Order: sequence, then structure tokens, then C-alpha cells
Amino acid sequence: MGFRQSAEALEHAKALLKRFPLIDGHNDLPWVIHSQKSCSQSVKRYDLARVHSESDTDLPRLREGMVAAQFFAAFVPTLAPHPGRMTLELIDIIRQFAETYPNDFALAVSAQDIARARKAGKIACVMTVEGGVGLENSLAPLRVWHAAGVRLMTLCHNETLDWVDSATDAPRHRGLTKFGEAVVLELNRLGIIVDLAHTAPSVMHKVLDISRAPVLFSHNNATALCDHPRNAPDDVLDRIRAKKSVIMATFVPDFISQKSRDWARPLKDKYGKSSFLHNHDAAIAARVKEAGPQPKATLIDLCQHIEYLASRTGLNHVGIGSDYFGGATPEGLEDVSKFPSLIAALIERGWSDAALEKLCGGNILRVMKAVEKIGKALRDAEPARTGRLEDYDHP
Ligand SMILES: [Zn+2]
Repeated sequence: MGFRQSAEALEHAKALLKRFPLIDGHNDLPWVIHSQKSCSQSVKRYDLARVHSESDTDLPRLREGMVAAQFFAAFVPTLAPHPGRMTLELIDIIRQFAETYPNDFALAVSAQDIARARKAGKIACVMTVEGGVGLENSLAPLRVWHAAGVRLMTLCHNETLDWVDSATDAPRHRGLTKFGEAVVLELNRLGIIVDLAHTAPSVMHKVLDISRAPVLFSHNNATALCDHPRNAPDDVLDRIRAKKSVIMATFVPDFISQKSRDWARPLKDKYGKSSFLHNHDAAIAARVKEAGPQPKATLIDLCQHIEYLASRTGLNHVGIGSDYFGGATPEGLEDVSKFPSLIAALIERGWSDAALEKLCGGNILRVMKAVEKIGKALRDAEPARTGRLEDYDHP
């Protein structure tokens, strides 16, 4: 079953991506490099300049995919030992991108930096932290991460932390604790985007209540089309427009295809989570034996999510957050070179150039600028929030 696309639509897509920037909201390449022990966390040793056909992201294919800006995640599994140290190691890997390949990458800490990088023919790297576990229950790392260039933080990953409930774990806080609220408000003050991917709906609602700036959902799809707990329910989607926020559709097969999700269900715990520190190969082999190969998710499934999200939130509130992480990918979206195929598919489905410009990057740039401006005003008006969890959450 191949994927058919007209050459005309693909040419049109590529012409559009020359005209306006494609900004992708989530990529775990830093984690892929960190996981490869033989590289000792060295981007040079990993060699981003060659095609890594065993994985999905490298420099030649980012170029082929016409990516203007990539949000790169410093992803730290919740159960990793020394999460604070590991967050710094991943931040360092992202900093190495531009240092190692100065003609191809530029670190971007603002919307303006993205425009500058594009003018210079470079790919802008926006640094993000995925998983507040690296705070180790202290606010100080937020300011240090900001100084290192971090401009978005995903509050948690697959597990509930001491202050925030995960979408894929037992809830313990009915959303956020007081410390969790302080994290959100300090992120607002610093001008770091609050990312609600991976959080429980109770957290999404709470942050939509208290955040003083627009937020992002950097890699989520719609629960209405696929009931994976990582997706966003309708009552959350219906609040995104009023908050001037953006939800970025993700490519993870289990989040876009109900069939793929149902196949994988027995491999997850009752909250729908799989542990990143656990080797699932044997369990997957057993599931294939029992139920046949996992049904493929496709690029068309993803288009349906994007259109559903846009119908619910409006065209000004959708974006793209691939979540390439060296794992399973949908048919038609095998690696970062495939972004033009996604745009071409949307063109064939009737999307206008103006709508695609918003989806590809216009909406994200608006959120970035708003968060920068609000952060500056807050820093002028109020002091930093400091201290540890025990200073906020009393037993
Ligand atoms: Zn993630």
C-alpha cells in the first residue's frame, strides 16, 4: 500500500516553504544522540552531517524537509537517575548543534532570531526542556535554563511529578500544586512558553485559568479522533482560541490512529504509558505473534487530526509538532524530509496558501512574540519566584 501524491501538489508545497517558514514544535534528536553511548554526548561524533537511515533526523534530511526552525527537546525520562544533571547534558547537546555546524544551525532565543537564521540560510534551533523532573523540586533551574537559551518547557513527561499530574499516570494533585502554579507563573515571567503536552486535562484547564501568557500544546492530537490519553479532549480544545494559544499536531502513530492505539493497548499500563527505561522488544514480538503486525498510521490520519483541531480551535490556533524521536512513524511521514509531503497532502485537501502559512509557523511565531512581550513586562513589574517545593506545598 503505497502513498500517492501529485507532483504538482508537492512542487506547490516546496514553493510555499521557500516563501514562509516551517516551524516544527517537537523533536527528540538530542535524546537519540544522548542514548548512543559510543558518542559520549558529542554531536560531532554522532555526525549530524550524514544521513542516519536507522533514525529519522539529521542535517541532510532537515534541509530536504525545508525545516526553518526546529524545537529540540532536552527530554529526560522521569525515572532517570540524576535528572538535573541529565537535563544539563541534553541542553549542552542542543548548544553543540550550532557550535558544531555554524553554517547550518543557529540557536534561536526569540521569534526574531528565527527570522535572522532564515535570512542567513540556517536552521533555527529553539531549545526546550521536556519534563519538569529536572527541576528536582526547585525553581532556581528555571532561570539557569533560561540563561542557557531554553524558551519552552513541557511541565512533565509520562509520570506524575510531586507537583503536576501527567496524562498517563495516576493523578495525585487534582492538577497542579501551589509549587506547580509557581512554576507556571515563573515561566510566564521569564518569557518561557508553558507547554501542556503530556499533562492531564486537569492541568490543562488549570494552566489555561492561571497562565498570564498564551501556551502551546507542542505535540498533541484530538481525543475525539483517537482516545489515547496523550491527546487533548474537546473541552480543552474549546478554550485554546480565547487563550490565543496553539495546539501542534503530532505524528506519533498511537496518537493519530485508533487502530494503531488499540493494537498497542495491551503493551501499556492502565494509564496508557510505556516506560522509556524499559525494554519492550520481547513484549512487542509477543503481541505481533498474537495479533499480527501493528496497523499502520498514515499521513492522511494526521491530516484528519489537523482539520479536526482547526475546526475546533480556528485556523489561528493550530501548528505542527512532529515528535520525531527515533521511533515508529506513520506511512508517508517516515522522517524529517517528509514535511513537504504533509503540506502537499493538505493542499490536495483544499487548504489555502494563507491557511498553510499559519499552520506551518505563523501561529507559533505569534505565540512566541506574545510570550516574549508579556515576560518582559512581568520582569519589569515583579521579582523572581525562588525557593523549593516545601516553601509552597505544606503537608
Ligand atoms: Zn513527548
